[in-house]
Amino acid sequence: MNVYDADRIRTALVSTGWEEALEDVATLVIFVTCSIREKAEQKVLSEIGRIESRSAEGQPVIAVVGCMAQRIGDSLLDRFPAVRLVCGPRNLGRLLPGIDRIMDSRERLSILDENPVSLEDLGVSPLFRENPWKAYITIAHGCDNFCTYCIVPHVRGRFMSRDPEGIFLEVQELVSSGVREIILIGQNVNTYGHDFGNDYRFSSLLDDVASMKGVNRIRFCTSHPKDLTEDVVRVMSRRPSICTGINLPIQSGSDRILGLMNRGYTVEKYASIIEMIRDHLPEPSVTSDLIVGFPGETDDDFRESVRVVEKFRFDLVHTAAYSPRDGTPAARMDGQVPFAVKKRRLAEINRIQEDITMAINDALVGREFEVLVDGFAPRGDSMLQGRTSADKVVIFPGDASLLGSFRMVRITGSGNWSLRGEIIPEGTQ
Ligand code: SAM
Ligand code: SF4
Repeated sequence: MNVYDADRIRTALVSTGWEEALEDVATLVIFVTCSIREKAEQKVLSEIGRIESRSAEGQPVIAVVGCMAQRIGDSLLDRFPAVRLVCGPRNLGRLLPGIDRIMDSRERLSILDENPVSLEDLGVSPLFRENPWKAYITIAHGCDNFCTYCIVPHVRGRFMSRDPEGIFLEVQELVSSGVREIILIGQNVNTYGHDFGNDYRFSSLLDDVASMKGVNRIRFCTSHPKDLTEDVVRVMSRRPSICTGINLPIQSGSDRILGLMNRGYTVEKYASIIEMIRDHLPEPSVTSDLIVGFPGETDDDFRESVRVVEKFRFDLVHTAAYSPRDGTPAARMDGQVPFAVKKRRLAEINRIQEDITMAINDALVGREFEVLVDGFAPRGDSMLQGRTSADKVVIFPGDASLLGSFRMVRITGSGNWSLRGEIIPEGTQ
């Protein structure tokens, strides 16, 4: 979501005459921030401190946008003289006029979201993107689920689906600008449309976007186990352009902890959804999110989390140690788990999942997949990277002329985070 917002802010600024510059010559630095865990916020605080310590004569000016601005924006203004503007995630439409004001004066502005249902959005598509071939599109703002550990509903406001026509226009614009893969995003995409008062749902949107000309690939996230329904998986099975990777956060393997988290499902219900996905899609890749050390999590609860990881054999699990967030119910619950225990549980579950991911990836060696070549690999000369439909990263030798194209690759090696491969020359497949 922050990549999408940052790309749109960049697009809006460039189209009004701003130029993107390296940090040491920039007159303005904008942070698009996350509040999900304390660590995310600490990173921003230390970056602001670093830039402020070398700012001279009031330059560069710093603006802080997004969830962290919404959560602690006014204290950022108090603490850092170089921070001259803070702007909440539902007020991005007021960001550019705000920037004009602070650049023309010594003013300091706080544009925070006072009403969790109102929205003043940036009316631009992300045309100047971090990645030319892939683009995110937010399909719904906010979240109403109020999982007890989560800050998102408190900083991003109430759930609000975007109207489908606006989404289609954005898809068209992105496709015309070279995008080959669209990623539909929302905190819970499965409740898309529930606020419309008609029967247009996420599966309808998915089907409609998949039928649009020029849309080669579609992904979506995040799915919520309490709301993912069969109609979505049926559309996926009918439409080859919809990728087969599903992120379905389980968060805990203990029903007692899931209840305390207010997740709205049990492990049994979760298992039935996994079964439904695996029944309809021939080779789905299912990833998950899981928190260790939620308040009150005993060793037995943790063992249940280990059991679900072993049972469901996810392709990947985004694990995190529970991080208390001020203002959320879980932060005030009894039984906060000591840091050392969370760290030990995190290391154990990561080790178990690494072995599972390795075994799944090892079994792909020798297979052939189509990838969208979407960039240079982070390490290694002349190495490119692409993703399969199941969202596996493949690293392979190649040159810049291949960027943005779909190619068949043969998998030659595997690792935990990526696979290695080689391009199969066209005409020999
Ligand atoms: N809406 C999605 C969902 O329901 O999972 C994603 C929400 S959040 C942006 C991404 C992940 O952050 C969550 O799945 C959860 O595992 C993790 N997370 C959220 N709050 C957390 C907290 N207080 N401590 C640790 N991890 C947290
Ligand atoms: Fe947070 Fe739960 Fe909403 Fe996801 S569904 S954003 S975890 S409150």
